[in-house]
Amino acid sequence: MKVSGNSIEALQKLIGEARKIGIATHTHPDGDAVGSTVGLYSYLAMKHGKDVRIMVDTGIPQSVAFITEGISDKILCYESDPEAVTAWAKSCDLLFFLDLNGISRTGDMAKAFGSKVPRVLIDHHLNPQIEEFVLVFSETQVSSASELLFHILMSMPDISGEAARLPMTGLTAILSGITTDTNNFANSTFPSTFEAASALIAAGTDREQILLKIYNSFEERRIRLMGDLLYRKMVITDLGVAYMILDAATSASYGILSGETEGFVNMPLTIGRVRMSIFLKEENGVWRVSIRAKKGTSANKLASASFNGGGHELASGGKLPVGPGGAAEAEAYIIKATQEFFSHEL
Ligand code: 5GP
Repeated sequence: MKVSGNSIEALQKLIGEARKIGIATHTHPDGDAVGSTVGLYSYLAMKHGKDVRIMVDTGIPQSVAFITEGISDKILCYESDPEAVTAWAKSCDLLFFLDLNGISRTGDMAKAFGSKVPRVLIDHHLNPQIEEFVLVFSETQVSSASELLFHILMSMPDISGEAARLPMTGLTAILSGITTDTNNFANSTFPSTFEAASALIAAGTDREQILLKIYNSFEERRIRLMGDLLYRKMVITDLGVAYMILDAATSASYGILSGETEGFVNMPLTIGRVRMSIFLKEENGVWRVSIRAKKGTSANKLASASFNGGGHELASGGKLPVGPGGAAEAEAYIIKATQEFFSHEL
């Protein structure tokens, strides 16, 4: 993938002039958010000796915490220590925002970012808020922010297409981010995705180990809850919409932690007649919504029309307030929203 030479020059200049740097990503970070931020951290801090902190709004889920091995002390979390994040963001010479299309996606942490520090965006979502940044790398024809970061780093003169010049921590993080965001190279892949993966493996990343950590290291409770939900809670409507609603009490009864339900939304899509899957999870007083669709149905349109969110064409998310009617009210809302949505689509 070709990254504009002018943007690379501008990026080089910003990095060259900066001593203290912050790297932020979206709230409830997933594998791509963590992979891309750690990938960039490795370049800035390990290769260039900059003083860098990764800033997250909410904690890094256990399922992708392996990506941060060795650098976990360089991660600041707004939820647990807002003062530390705010102080770092204010003292920085440069801020990066990865895997989000606007500052508001950093959640409560958005309050920490003043307007004086130059901001750089590296993202792969639709509708980037370009006015919020001095330099924008926004590309939707890539699998992930991790992949886009890889192509950018390969274009930096000190790397010049030699992936092995990047620290192994960063290479592993980037391949992990690409792997999680593509669901192990099943979705949103482009020729450039495989080129990046090939270069990462040639440079020595251990794909088997990454797969073991991502897909075969879960807690037993996660699989038992998934089975329970699929058996008892999954509903498939006549429109081919599958939905599952997980309330806080059920999560608590399984001892489920934030991030452990990642991937649940994909399961109903393996059924032939399902064209869209919606998963609602009650967390901190809101329904967090995940939507996945098969080609030809827009998850992004439904997320923005009815769930206060957005994302990608086939993978999006959003939020709903938890009303007094709880799960039954949310269920009625999903049925109404999808009926309206498909009446316009058809
Ligand atoms: P997930 O279902 O994995 O949480 O999210 C899928 C996609 O939707 C991700 O690309 C994510 O960035 C996006 N997304 C999730 N939640 C929200 C949200 O509340 N607002 C917006 N704009 N996008 C979201």
